[in-house]
Order: sequence, then structure tokens, then C-alpha cells
Amino acid sequence: MTDRPLTLVLVSTPIGQLGSGRGGGVELTFTSVLKGLVGRGHRLHVVAPSGSHLPALDGSVTLHTAPGLDQPSWQHADREAAMQIPLDGVLPQLWDRALALAADADAVLNFGYDWLPLWLTPHVASPIFHLVSMGSVSSLMDRAIQDLARWDQRRMAFHTRRQASDFALPHPPEVVGNGFDLSRYGLQLSGDGPLGWAGRVAPEKGLEDAAAVAAALGEPLKVWGLVEDPAYASRVEAQVPAGTIEWCGFQTTEELQRQLGRCRAFLNTPKWNEAYGNVVVEALACGVPVVAYDRGGPGEIVEHGVTGWLVTADDREALTEATRRVAAIDRRACRRWTEQWASQEALAARIEAWIHRGLIPMNGTIS
Ligand code: UDP
Repeated sequence: MTDRPLTLVLVSTPIGQLGSGRGGGVELTFTSVLKGLVGRGHRLHVVAPSGSHLPALDGSVTLHTAPGLDQPSWQHADREAAMQIPLDGVLPQLWDRALALAADADAVLNFGYDWLPLWLTPHVASPIFHLVSMGSVSSLMDRAIQDLARWDQRRMAFHTRRQASDFALPHPPEVVGNGFDLSRYGLQLSGDGPLGWAGRVAPEKGLEDAAAVAAALGEPLKVWGLVEDPAYASRVEAQVPAGTIEWCGFQTTEELQRQLGRCRAFLNTPKWNEAYGNVVVEALACGVPVVAYDRGGPGEIVEHGVTGWLVTADDREALTEATRRVAAIDRRACRRWTEQWASQEALAARIEAWIHRGLIPMNGTIS
């Protein structure tokens, strides 16, 4: 173990430019890790699709962009789908740049959920680490993750234990949680605002269940986020009385936290094994209690009775009843939880420790 600053190559998702919202929670995670690692004195190269924007940082970060078409996202592919790379796809171009930079770096840190970087990891001399951003959505990806874990599991980390439990791993998983620049989120103490929901509007996010709760309570539901699937959004809207859903659009973090912080409760209703659930922690950072399904990352993040209520997944009635009881949650406790577990600084320290451990040569794994 050494304390010298590392030179790291951070490779962004091949879905959308940083700042577009198309990459989902990975975009915010990427920015947090970047800022956190800069704060710890490391030198960083960022490789991201053309048009990406980085936060204003000092000279210790260099942005390298690559042109090309987005990868199709795995969460919307059939489970048995084959790997596809579009002609002029951005994914191989990102890795061309990353591997060239890796020659003069200590390690590469991959944020994309893709077969190609997993597959090439054992075949290159440079150490590549993977922050796995989703649970199991594809048999091919499961195999790639499991194969790499058998080769050297130290090369991958997960956001939550529940996410990692989707994969047949030979060893207990490295779990790093997630982290946020908490200075960007203000604690709002008033607990008499509206109900809120945020995320990509897509079937795996289960907006219909949150809308059903709002309808049962006779209240509107404010919805923030990118409408990824407009047909799904229309179906959800048609299932509840007119005016139940208030579409608030995709907002910047500054605006999102300002509006979100006014909410009485934040509903989180994933239909998939959500790897983490950034929006849950963003709500908590503003002091908003979370009422969530006990499924995936949110089920691991929310402390039942302390930062919100967890109910049996897919039980809309239980969700409605728990939402009625949200005034019992102390909004300061919600913010405190984020300060203790989910700061950008704490995340960067965990990532740094993981990379240092993974760089230690181990007989039979890396030389
Ligand atoms: N988000 C945002 N503006 C909005 C709504 C959402 O910037 O109006 C961001 C939010 O900050 C979060 C991401 O969208 O980082 C959603 O991430 P999450 O982990 O909740 O789900 P994912 O999309 O990765 O499945």
C-alpha cells in the first residue's frame, strides 16, 4: 500500500454524454468519484463521449473525448440478447483512448456496464477496475462479470450487497456504496409539501405504483426525470385521475434538490433489482423521508423507521399506508445518514482503498 497520488484513467458510460441525463445515475456517480479523487490529490484522465461536460476542476483532470454512436443499453435488451456494437459506435473508441492513456497510468476505472471492457481486462497489462452499475439484466453480462470475478474479483466493486447478490461470485463482494457532493443539497425542514418521485421514466422504475399511491391519497405526485419511454409515461398517466402526475422534467441537480427538498415524502418503487438508487439518497440529503419497496439498493439504503419506511415490494397498499405515516420520520436524521454514509469524500476514500488493494500483486491472479 502506498500513499503516493495515483494517475487514473476514468472511462465514462458509452450511453450519452456526461451531462445529458441519458446515462442515468452513472453520470452523477462519475462526477462524485471524479471530484472526490481530485480532492484526495490524484491525477485523472477522463475519457467520455464527445460533447461531455465536466465540472470546473483544476489542472489535475484532463478530458479526452471520443466520437461515436451510443451503445444500446443492456437494461432494455432481451435477457438473452447478443452483444451489439453499432457501426461507428463510441464504445471501442473510448477504449482505444483509454488503453493508450493507460500505458502511463496506474490504473483504469470503468463506469460503463459493458461486455467489451470486462472481456479485455485479463488480456491487457494495464490494471482495469470496474464499478459495476447494474444488477443482472443480461445472461451475457452475467457471464462476463462472473468470468472476470473468477480471474480476479478484486477488479470489480458493486454499489450494494443486494446488487452484487445477482451474480455468482467466488468471494464476498467489494461494496463501495455511492457518494454525493452534499454541499449541493440543502436540508429543508418543512414536512408539509407534496409527494415526490424522481428517476428515468421507464418501466423498471415502477412509476405506476407511486402514481397509484398518490391517487389513493387524492394528492398530486411530482415527477422529475428524463422521460426515456414516452409510451410507458402515457400508460401510467392514463391509469390515474387526470392531474395526479405533475411532470416536472429533467432538472439540474441544483434545481432538482431545491424542488425535491420541499416534498413531504419521496416514493421509490423499483420493479428491478436497482443497483443503488441515487435519487433515494438525493432526497435524504434534502431531509426528505423515503418510502420505498424493500428491493435492491433502496431496500439496503433506507433505514426502516429512521430515514423512511420500507414495505414489501409491489405492495401498493402497504406503500400507501407507510406514506400516511411519514411525519414520524425526523428530516434531520435523513440528512445525517447521508453525511455519515454517502458523501463524495467517503466514496472516494472507499474507491481509493479498493484500487490500492487490487493493485497488490497476488499469486495466481495478477503479476
Ligand atoms: N436526475 C437529474 N434530474 C432530474 C431527475 C433525475 O439529474 O430531474 C438524476 C439523478 O440525480 C440521478 C439520476 O438522474 O443521479 C437517476 O439515477 P438513479 O440511480 O436513481 O437511477 P438510474 O437512472 O441510474 O437507473
